[in-house]
Amino acid sequence: MARFQAPRGTRDLLPAQMAAWQRLRALAEGLATRYGYQPIETPLFEDSAVFERAIGAATDVVEKELFRIAGAGETRDGDVRWALRPEATAGIVRAFVEHGMHTLPQPVRLTTFGPMFRYDRPQAGRYRQFWQWNVEAIGDQGPAIDAEVIELGLAFLRDAGVAQVEVQLNSIGDAACRPAYIERLTEYLRGVEDRLPPLERQRLQTNPLRVLDSKDPVLAPILADAPLIADHLCAECAAHYAGLRGHLEALSVPIRPAPQIVRGLDYYTRTAFEYFVPGREGQQQALGGGGRYDGLAELLGGRPTPGVGLAIGIDRVAAVIEEAVPTAASRPVAVVVGADAAATGDRLRLATDLRRAGIAAGADLATRKLARQLDGAARLGAHFAVVVGDELADGQVQLRDLEAGTQRLVNVVDLARELQRAQASHRHGQAEQRGARADSR
Ligand code: AMP
Repeated sequence: MARFQAPRGTRDLLPAQMAAWQRLRALAEGLATRYGYQPIETPLFEDSAVFERAIGAATDVVEKELFRIAGAGETRDGDVRWALRPEATAGIVRAFVEHGMHTLPQPVRLTTFGPMFRYDRPQAGRYRQFWQWNVEAIGDQGPAIDAEVIELGLAFLRDAGVAQVEVQLNSIGDAACRPAYIERLTEYLRGVEDRLPPLERQRLQTNPLRVLDSKDPVLAPILADAPLIADHLCAECAAHYAGLRGHLEALSVPIRPAPQIVRGLDYYTRTAFEYFVPGREGQQQALGGGGRYDGLAELLGGRPTPGVGLAIGIDRVAAVIEEAVPTAASRPVAVVVGADAAATGDRLRLATDLRRAGIAAGADLATRKLARQLDGAARLGAHFAVVVGDELADGQVQLRDLEAGTQRLVNVVDLARELQRAQASHRHGQAEQRGARADSR
């Protein structure tokens, strides 16, 4: 018999993991609202040309990692027409252009949360389907808005519980100054070509900037002597970079200049940044990153429109905070059980009334003995069991506190209020525990 598994490089997010996921999503959405970023959803797949144009044909993401898909029998010139999105920015800017959002008050601040797909070699921290929180501010040249975006990403990571975060920052110039820099870099790399690994030699031909992005240790001494883009910025880019650092300083956002960060995608101009936990700066360890993409809207057929954005990798953030504070799966406050195993209707009705009153309530709907039902409620981690018995005829049930081991008779009409009170004080206790844990870190 066939046994199926989740596809390589993907995973199921089971309820225990979803607790952290939902918390991160709620945090992201709350921050986005507070900072004035509006939600947008774009399709999970686009015309592959959107990514080829936007990200660049000679990039790893397009050359090696694009998940190309086609409907049954559907190809264009023998090519697969669609691709699953490897990142969100290209699709969002495509939507910005398509819907004429340049007529809205600028900048347009947008945010989205969802899965991305890269046909990458799966390894720790690198999946073929992973989740990102994205933030884009389109229509402002900055640098103040760049600072807003960088600070927002940092606020998310800190609120999520990542104890230490470092912002690594660079400027990668623009169409005015980057070509001359790339020429210098190419010249330098040609001089040391015989020391380059084959992959980097190939990159030297197609996209020399990408050699800087390599984390291959063989390259470290070679790159240490390479010319730096930051030393070759034109006056406008240099002023923008200085302005950004000034704004970040005013917001007390500490940064580390990182001349090697060029970001993998062609569309970036000027600002480029990544978030790391200090000491964990390997290739699969960036918690997020982003940058400015002033040429992107034009590449996608729109009028020239500046933009800046970021993407936080939710899988990696969840992994980092799981190590620090394991999150408990959600638990019901009460489970309704009963002496008459067959009376599932009573139990379901009482639980439904509690749920309608806003209480996380379970109902044991198996026709099994009361003792087994009580065991089940304890295993779910419920604080209370509502025990239905003969008293129901008088409008009463037993409310058993499973943690204290006490039990008392309660009127059904008062049940929701009783449990609400217990739920509130229980939450308060949990919050205090969490606070104590955070303090001790
Ligand atoms: P990037 O635009 O490639 O820098 O991606 C932004 C963030 O998304 C990274 O810093 C990672 O946290 C996350 N990320 C990118 N690719 C993957 C992947 N294959 N698996 C898990 N997370 C990823």
